[in-house]
Amino acid sequence: MERGLISVDRWSGGSQAYFLTHLHADHTQGLSSAWSRGPLFCSHLTSKLLPFKFPNFNLSLLRVLEVGSWHSLSLTSPSSGTKTAVQVMLIDAHHCPGSVMFLFRGEFGCLLYTGDFRWEASIEKAYTSKIILLNAIKGSKLEVLYLDNTYCHPSYAFPSRVDAAKQVVDIIISHPEHDIIIAIDNLGKEELLLYISRMLKIKIWVWPERLQTLHLLGYEDIFTTKTSFTRVRAVPRYSFTVDTLEGLNKVRPTIGIMPSGLPGILGHFGMNENLCTSLADSRSNGFKSSEIFTITSNGQKWNVRSVEKLHQYIYSVPYSDHASFSEIQEFVELVRPINMRGIVSSSSCYINPLYYFGHFRGVNQPSQKSWQKHKGVESMSAIQTESLCQISHCPNLARKRRRSEKIRILGHRFSRVSALRRVRQGVKIVENDCVD
Ligand SMILES: [Zn+2]
Repeated sequence: MERGLISVDRWSGGSQAYFLTHLHADHTQGLSSAWSRGPLFCSHLTSKLLPFKFPNFNLSLLRVLEVGSWHSLSLTSPSSGTKTAVQVMLIDAHHCPGSVMFLFRGEFGCLLYTGDFRWEASIEKAYTSKIILLNAIKGSKLEVLYLDNTYCHPSYAFPSRVDAAKQVVDIIISHPEHDIIIAIDNLGKEELLLYISRMLKIKIWVWPERLQTLHLLGYEDIFTTKTSFTRVRAVPRYSFTVDTLEGLNKVRPTIGIMPSGLPGILGHFGMNENLCTSLADSRSNGFKSSEIFTITSNGQKWNVRSVEKLHQYIYSVPYSDHASFSEIQEFVELVRPINMRGIVSSSSCYINPLYYFGHFRGVNQPSQKSWQKHKGVESMSAIQTESLCQISHCPNLARKRRRSEKIRILGHRFSRVSALRRVRQGVKIVENDCVD
């Protein structure tokens, strides 16, 4: 695609049309209430939530698109000055409310930008989205797949969100005398909170701004801002620290639950051995561990992490709104792109999906020249991936890291890892993304 036409989750200007996959902060860096660089295309739900995040946003720039049907845009080629037609389809990403993928079609061929996504095989809604996508790309080749590579490493294996939600409820039930705090973001994990509320027949406390968002999403009676109504509170992730938990326990017995796909790989950062005690060791709390178990996906077996006890008061549950490694693999195998790029990179590590999934590429393989180029990228990715993993196997380094980071595990360290993962998001779609 020619430079200067389209940007997705990238707000630095220089394009004619801007697309927003969803409203998480790492996808809106550079977007503000003063946005004036061009029309912003998004889903209906995102358009409803956006003015709440960006008050005084110029609503005449919002373009709401329905999910599941093609929409045509007439753009101007910056090089020739002639009109060029671009078609776009939104497909539900099942990541958080309003989140979508963008499928583009035009003279450049067919491109798919997943944004953050999670399509679990067991979820009916994800199956429907899969059918919509397959029908939309039927008969054409997917030239480039821009892929959510957040968990693009075989160590990221976790259960479905339904199963992880059951684990959260089990923890709460096994602590009947405790207050519970659960770390969440400004958007997402609503299904988890609903499940807890339904299973335990209780309301969930949220902070006032979060309640407003939940009301916008149509949840009326389940949430409250009155602490006296419930012992379960959903709190902002940034406030979920060891210090907070220790402070709360001076007043009332309280445990914290961190739902995330991330803590399952603490070992890669030299953190796991001393800090994460398996639930087998925490049965004194009355909670029966489900421990590590195995799932089969695509004919392969994966060891799936279960609940981990990170601290005297803190449990980590592998509840993830991003696709696991096996789900990413299934997705790539499904769409068989000719080329692919990860959309998440960091200052320390970028795991190129080609490293793991290059063999799933579509039948029209790139030319020898571009293949050589890929090979270069692949070996680099392999080195980067290995260096990430080696940290946990180097005893001195691991010890050093444990010393310096032990105390701050859930406050600073999680935010630091998150920041590392999220240095760069989004893309201006330009010619050199398509290597052919
Ligand atoms: Zn997100």
